[in-house]
Amino acid sequence: MPESRRKTLIAANWKMYKTAEEAVAFVRAFIPLASTHRHAEIVLCPSPTLLPAVVEAARNTSIRVAAQNMHWLDQGAYTGETSPLQLKALGVTHVLIGHSERRQYFNETDETVNLKLKSALAHGLVPIVCVGELLAEREANQTTAVLERQTSVALTGIDPASTGPLVIAYEPVWAIGTGRTATPEIADEAHKIVRAQIARSLTPQVAASTRILYGGSVKPENTASLCTLDDIDGALVGGASLVEASFEQIVANSAA
Ligand code: PEP
Repeated sequence: MPESRRKTLIAANWKMYKTAEEAVAFVRAFIPLASTHRHAEIVLCPSPTLLPAVVEAARNTSIRVAAQNMHWLDQGAYTGETSPLQLKALGVTHVLIGHSERRQYFNETDETVNLKLKSALAHGLVPIVCVGELLAEREANQTTAVLERQTSVALTGIDPASTGPLVIAYEPVWAIGTGRTATPEIADEAHKIVRAQIARSLTPQVAASTRILYGGSVKPENTASLCTLDDIDGALVGGASLVEASFEQIVANSAA
């Protein structure tokens, strides 16, 4: 169970799935299911074109909406990009930064993650910064070095006083969409490495209050064993978040 001052956060990463109609149908079906689970903050992360419809469908509920990515600048000649100002104007409250699929396929680097994190904090968007090692890095015993580098570069130049809502998601790349979940022991060890790096990069107080989510093939059946650990403050869920009933079960089981 996370320390009481860190509220559990369960986020649904819908990646490039769902039309606006399907997304709204999900939210409508999910609201009554989710309304009993007050222990957790629930965040939906749809594709950019779905954001207005999902924000509207979730209005006057405790469900929050995140973008899956953003540019760090307020505006400019950057075709295909979305700015923090545009997200704020829609009513988006959270933003995923540095998801491994963006690092792998869209040239996201530790340095652009840092620029986006600074921008999100400056604009009052809650950043969910993703870190995690590749299978080859784990097998080469580089997990600690990778997590320390990704976390420390992401936090470079960040004022510890500005990080109130900071969220990190530990997502081992070998566990994303593979059905292969990190054991609770592996996840717990990685979360401790990330938290220790936050303490070194910022302050022990910020480290103690930062929520660190686990992501990578989270399902209803493995949620409780992960979320009972002290350093695991919730989950970032891909595939199993696409269906209302399974996502609701994950939220319910995270209270274990
Ligand atoms: C993700 O996309 O962040 C993720 C963790 O996906 P999955 O749950 O499908 O592994």
